[in-house]
This record gives sequence, structure tokens and C-alpha cells, in this order.
Amino acid sequence: MTSSLAERWRNLREELPASARLLAVSKGHPSSSIRALALLGQRAFGESRLQEALPKQNDLADLEIEWHFIGRLQSNKVRPVVKAFSVIHSVDSLELARRVSRIASEEEVSPSVLLQVKLRPDPSKGGFDADHLQNVWAELSTLPAMRVVGLMTMAPFDCPVMDRRALFSECRHLADHLGLPDCSMGMSGDWRDATAAGSTWLRLGSALFGARPVSAPAMG
Ligand SMILES: *Cc1c(COP(=O)(O)O)cnc(C)c1O
Repeated sequence: MTSSLAERWRNLREELPASARLLAVSKGHPSSSIRALALLGQRAFGESRLQEALPKQNDLADLEIEWHFIGRLQSNKVRPVVKAFSVIHSVDSLELARRVSRIASEEEVSPSVLLQVKLRPDPSKGGFDADHLQNVWAELSTLPAMRVVGLMTMAPFDCPVMDRRALFSECRHLADHLGLPDCSMGMSGDWRDATAAGSTWLRLGSALFGARPVSAPAMG
């Protein structure tokens, strides 16, 4: 491992408040980098593409890694995703949540789920609108075989810096209103704003690993 990966990890961990956990977004990075961080004590890793994640999980099966799925979840990938990941950050509709619940129950697993919310217009992303989420909350919160633990959001690419903190605060308030502990918000470019607003999961890729060597799409 280059010393800089370890240094970046240590520096980030030092800067984070105790309430915020670091999700190391390892998409586009090889198993060897994940292993190096895991040996330092990093436990939670995030991947956004199933076909990229599965071989890495296989390489690293000897380690105690908590795998988080953060990519757009297609309905035909729900079964392999619930089998391979214990936390899913990107459940973005009631239909998808029902499907996760049904398939998790068939597979006898119980993933932790974060519901993706869209608090600003953004044609490139999915997500619950805040009012709709509250309207269907009674059903979402009682779906069997999965635990809704929080909300996930992303700022639109063109979100003015001035509005980012407000957006993240809205997500935090909505989570609090629903009694949810976790907010997955903040990426390499905006994690300080997200932390100030009460994020509990910072999804950091390039700030930790450096630029991605192979192209991995940002989540749509
Ligand atoms: C790639 C990705 C990240 C990490 O992005 P960086 O800007 O490299 O930190 C976080 N969240 C999601 C959903 C992603 O797809």
C-alpha cells in the first residue's frame, strides 16, 4: 500500500466526529486496496455495481468486511444484492422496498436498508419525494425481513454550494421525524457540509482512495 492511502484514512478518521462513520467507496479500486484498508481497521466498504463487487468479495472472503450496496438497484438484481450485501443505501421506491422485503424473506436474510430520498429536482437520480415517503411510511416501516435504518441522499451535480447544507439538514430532519438513526449523505466533494448537518455515513471514494483508476459510473 502507498503510505498515502493509510495517511488519508487516518486523517479522515481524525476529522470525523464520533457520530459519523466512514463508508469506504471502493468501486473502481482493486481488492488489494480494500485489503490494505481493512487491515488498518476499516470495516465498511461500499460498491455500486454487483458484477464488480462479487469477485472482490470473493477475493476478500477471509476478512470481516461489512459490504454496503450504494448503486442504483435494478429490480432484477435484488436477489443477488440481498445475498451479498448486508446494507443497501439505495432503495428508492415503495415497489423496490416491497421486492427487497419479499426476496430477503425468501433468502432468510435481513438487510439494513436506507431509503434514498430526492429533496431537489434531479432528472439523473431516483428517490422518494419527502411527502410520498411520509404517506407510505406506515407500510415501509413494517415490511418484514428488512430493517429501515435511515435515509440516503445526494446533492444534484448543479446544487449551489450555499444550498448543500440546507439540503442535508432537510434530510436529517426528515430522518429524525421518522425516528431513523442514520443519514447516508456526503461524498468526497461535500462531506464536510454533510457532516455538519448530521450525516452518520459518509460515502467517500476519491477523498480516500484517490482518483478511480478504472471508470466507474457515479450512481444515476
Ligand atoms: C461513487 C459514489 C460515491 C463516492 O464518490 P466520491 O466522489 O469518489 O467520494 C458515493 N456515493 C455514491 C452513490 C457513489 O456512486
